[in-house]
Amino acid sequence: MTVIQTPQAPTAFAELSRSFRGELLLPTTPGYDAARTIWNGAVERRPAIVARCTGVADVVAAVRSAREHDLEIAIRGGGHNVAGTAVCDDGIVIDLSTMRAVWVDPVGRSAWVQGGALWSDVDHETQAHGLATTGGIVGHTGVAGLTLGGGIGFLMRKHGLAVDNLLEAEVVTAEGSIVRASGDEHPDLFWALRGGGGNFGVVTSLRFALHPVGPSLVAGPVFWAADDTVELLRFYRDFAADAPDELGSVVRLGTVPPLQVIPEDLHRRPAIAVICCYTGAVEDGERAVRPLRRFGRPLVDLLEPSSYAAFQCGFDDTVLHGWHYYWKATNVARLSDAAIDVIADHAYAAGSSRSYAAMFHMGGAVARVPQDATAYAARDVAHNIVIDAVWLPAEAEELAAAETAWARRFLEALRPHCSGGVYVNFLDSDDDASRVREAYGDHIYGRLADVKATYDAANAFRHNKNIQPS
Ligand SMILES: Cc1cc2nc3c(=O)[nH]c(=O)nc-3n(C[C@H](O)[C@H](O)[C@H](O)COP(=O)(O)OP(=O)(O)OC[C@H]3O[C@@H](n4cnc5c(N)ncnc54)[C@H](O)[C@@H]3O)c2cc1C
Repeated sequence: MTVIQTPQAPTAFAELSRSFRGELLLPTTPGYDAARTIWNGAVERRPAIVARCTGVADVVAAVRSAREHDLEIAIRGGGHNVAGTAVCDDGIVIDLSTMRAVWVDPVGRSAWVQGGALWSDVDHETQAHGLATTGGIVGHTGVAGLTLGGGIGFLMRKHGLAVDNLLEAEVVTAEGSIVRASGDEHPDLFWALRGGGGNFGVVTSLRFALHPVGPSLVAGPVFWAADDTVELLRFYRDFAADAPDELGSVVRLGTVPPLQVIPEDLHRRPAIAVICCYTGAVEDGERAVRPLRRFGRPLVDLLEPSSYAAFQCGFDDTVLHGWHYYWKATNVARLSDAAIDVIADHAYAAGSSRSYAAMFHMGGAVARVPQDATAYAARDVAHNIVIDAVWLPAEAEELAAAETAWARRFLEALRPHCSGGVYVNFLDSDDDASRVREAYGDHIYGRLADVKATYDAANAFRHNKNIQPS
């Protein structure tokens, strides 16, 4: 028999059972271990209760019960955060993983998305109408967590961040009340939700603006040998700076992933890839990417007319559920020669062939939104880099320490060449409060702290990249 660490949990469980329609799991319930498992297999936490909500009423009941019985709260959206804040020890996980519906209004060009949906759910439903909104570059990432931190992706240079497309949200507050946040209702909360993370309530659904995208567009990666990194990044810096807003790109440095579409003899070879997505006519896309494809001698070129929804899931198998992950990140205001040298020196020094670094090209529409319009702080940086240490559960003893040390070393070498600042969704569990402040800067952090004091003065939602109430 498993011992419940939290003495108040059995009473909370018994009371909650009376009003809760979804599944409530205790450590003794069959399925508990699966329910506490998230995407990052390195995260091992044992909540007292997992409350798998079927709808808003369940969320209200769970929040009220947690508050009444003083249980720590974790909110699970897609369960994809590397830091593992979707689960807590001993408290209650408010689990939205079965709330994944997406309703598209093709005439009004918007979609309501439930708080546990994944980006593949959104792309699948919206693309049925030839529409899309800015989402993440991996299909099994959660919509809510990604959006609440800002939301960067291939479409952002044309259509803005995910938060720039957020029209309204339904939120269960720390008091257990249901509120709508939009430009007209609770505008302070709406401002904070657009970048401030899961600090202000449980977001049960989000409404996004949609745009005509694809369904077929020029998208995919081009790979070059790792030896070409310095020359390629110098070329890419100018190519990206001159790129039209329609062209989104991410540089991936590591090894060639063993995907079926890539010839087997290249698998696991150290390589740099530029992954592009042109949101516009195929002929225009082909013209825009031509100089890149002609650079040097690519190992393999998979940049071609593709289905947008399929492209968005193309790298899903390179970051599987259950593997172990750790990461470090920083914004890069300008890709100087010195920064490029550091990247080339460190990117291929990992011990695991699964580890990699990804650098997102920002700018375009992201940079044109006024700084104060949302709580997302870093609108003026050119790039944003995340260093992903990855190893298999069976390799933990041999690789975990070396891979995490690699990621830290890489970041420390890069920092003197960066502007400072970091994307809050790329922080890990060992990034402390000072890095959360670094993500926002003092001005935005102060404003977020004021909103936090209005909506969650007791800091009930603190199992996250926490904003302390002012
Ligand atoms: C492989 C990989 C690729 C990624 N790619 C991108 C990318 O392209 N663009 C990008 O912007 N980010 C990207 N990310 C980072 C991503 O934004 C974060 O990991 C994000 O937290 C994932 O959201 P989730 O809902 O799955 O999070 P979860 O792990 O479920 O939750 C993390 C935190 O988000 C908050 N949260 C989640 N759901 C809710 C909710 N419904 N209401 C209130 N708070 C909530 C809570 O504070 C929670 O602790 C990537 C991450 C990984 C691992």
